[in-house]
Amino acid sequence: MGDDEYVECEDSTVPLPGSGPDTFRQPPTDTRQPWEPADRAQAAVDGATGPEPPAPPLCPNCRLPGERRPTYTGRHVLLEPIPPIPAHLVPAGHRWTIDTGAGIAWNRGLDEPPPGALCRIPHRLACPGLALDEIRPWAWLTSLREHNEAEAIRRSDEAGYPGRWPDAG
Ligand SMILES: [Zn+2]
Repeated sequence: MGDDEYVECEDSTVPLPGSGPDTFRQPPTDTRQPWEPADRAQAAVDGATGPEPPAPPLCPNCRLPGERRPTYTGRHVLLEPIPPIPAHLVPAGHRWTIDTGAGIAWNRGLDEPPPGALCRIPHRLACPGLALDEIRPWAWLTSLREHNEAEAIRRSDEAGYPGRWPDAG
């Protein structure tokens, strides 16, 4: 390798924000960050639907108090204030775990719980102010039932039968 093959690189150091002439270009602290919509969507999927502080940790449907916990999406979840229960008894998507230390709650999603795992449940599952149709604890089963209902109607229409049985009551 000769000296003519050596290429000198320019300094690629990027200054940290907060000092220097570009400080004025920093967005205000309350500016929405690009990941916030994804976090809000995930919070809604998880069921981290508040109520958010400074509102009291009361269920908006039945006014019973819950145990409000922060989540990693920046939103809060209202948990049922009872001791942890076996995770295999709780519908998938409603199994909440609280990390020790920071006390942040997170939803295990649809993952199979490890044997013997305990979890917390959201108050929403036990809320007396909501009907099961509103809670949809077994969302995948509800979707399957809706699919099967549509399939049954389609097949009965193809066979020339009415889609639904007449109301005889
Ligand atoms: Zn409630």
